[in-house]
Amino acid sequence: MNCCNEKPVIGLYSGEKLCKNHFTDYFENKVHKTIRQFELLNKEEHLGIALSGGKDSLTVLHILNKLSKQNPKIKINAIAIDEGIHDYRDKTLEKAKDFCQKNNINLHIFSYKKEFGLTLDEMLKILDVKPCTICGIFRRYLLNKKSRELRLTKLATGHNLDDECQSIIMNQMKNNIQASARLGPKVGLIQDEKFVQRVKPLYLCTEKEVTTYAFVNGLLDEFTECPNVSQSFRAQVRDMLNELENKFPGTKYSIVNSFLQILPLLKQQFKHEAIKVCIKCSEPSANDVCNACVYLEKLKRSVVTD
Ligand code: SF4
Ligand code: ZN
Repeated sequence: MNCCNEKPVIGLYSGEKLCKNHFTDYFENKVHKTIRQFELLNKEEHLGIALSGGKDSLTVLHILNKLSKQNPKIKINAIAIDEGIHDYRDKTLEKAKDFCQKNNINLHIFSYKKEFGLTLDEMLKILDVKPCTICGIFRRYLLNKKSRELRLTKLATGHNLDDECQSIIMNQMKNNIQASARLGPKVGLIQDEKFVQRVKPLYLCTEKEVTTYAFVNGLLDEFTECPNVSQSFRAQVRDMLNELENKFPGTKYSIVNSFLQILPLLKQQFKHEAIKVCIKCSEPSANDVCNACVYLEKLKRSVVTD
C-alpha cells in the first residue's frame, strides 16, 4: 500500500510503502517518540553527539540539531574520535567536518595518536588482537573522558535497532548477561559522576530505515565500511540476523522488544555492581586497572621488548 502518489523510497515491515516526505516525517516522529518514551533528554541539556561521519551518527546529529533549533535550552556539540584507520576514518572525518561546518555545529576531534601515542593501525601491528576489541575499548574510554571534561550532560550515539539486536545476541552467545544489563536506550546501570550518560535516540529505527533517511536527506552519498569490520564477531552475528530477518520478517523487532521487557529486571539485578576507579588513570573501571590501561601497558611492553 503506497502512502501517496509520490514514488516510494522504502517499504516498511508493516507492508506500507512511503515516499521521501512521508518517510522523513515517519522517521523523525519515531525518533522523537523514542526520546519521550525512554526519557532520553531533559528540557535543558548540554548534549554531545558521538560523530563518526557514517550514516547513523550523521542522522542522529541532523535530527538533534533540528531539535536544538526548536529548543534553545538543548545545546549540542559533536565529538569525533580519530582512531587512525588508513583510507577510512580520514574520509569519514572529512564528511563529519563538512557537515558540522555547513550546519554551524561545534566539532571536537580527539585522536588515538595524540591521546595514546599510536594510531589503531600502529597498535594492530604490535598486538595480536581483534581490531574491534581494542578499538571499542579506546573509543569508549576517550568519549567518556572527553565528554566529562567538556562538561556535557549526556552523550547521544547513533546506535540503531540492528546494533542493539546484535549486542543482545552476542552477549547471550558469550554468556555475558551483565553486559546486556548495561544495554538499552539509556546505557549503564547506575548514574555516576564519572560516567556521562549515553543515550540512543535511534534505538527503535532499523538499519534499513537509518540508511534510507541518510540517503534521501542528502546526509550521505556513498556507503563506506571500516576495513576491519569483516574480522569482527559482530559482523557474523549481523549476517546471521539479516538472514533470519529475510526468512522471518520481524525477528529483530521481536528480539529487541522482548529484551526491553526484561531489561528493568536485569538493571535491578546488577545495579549494585560497584564502579571502581582505575588505579592508573582514575577513569571508571570494573576492575582495579581499566581495560584501556591494560592494553596501553601491553603496547608499552611490546615496544620495549622489540
Ligand atoms: Fe573500530 Fe571495528 Fe568499528 Fe573499525 S569496525 S571502527 S576497527 S570497532
Ligand atoms: Zn586506566
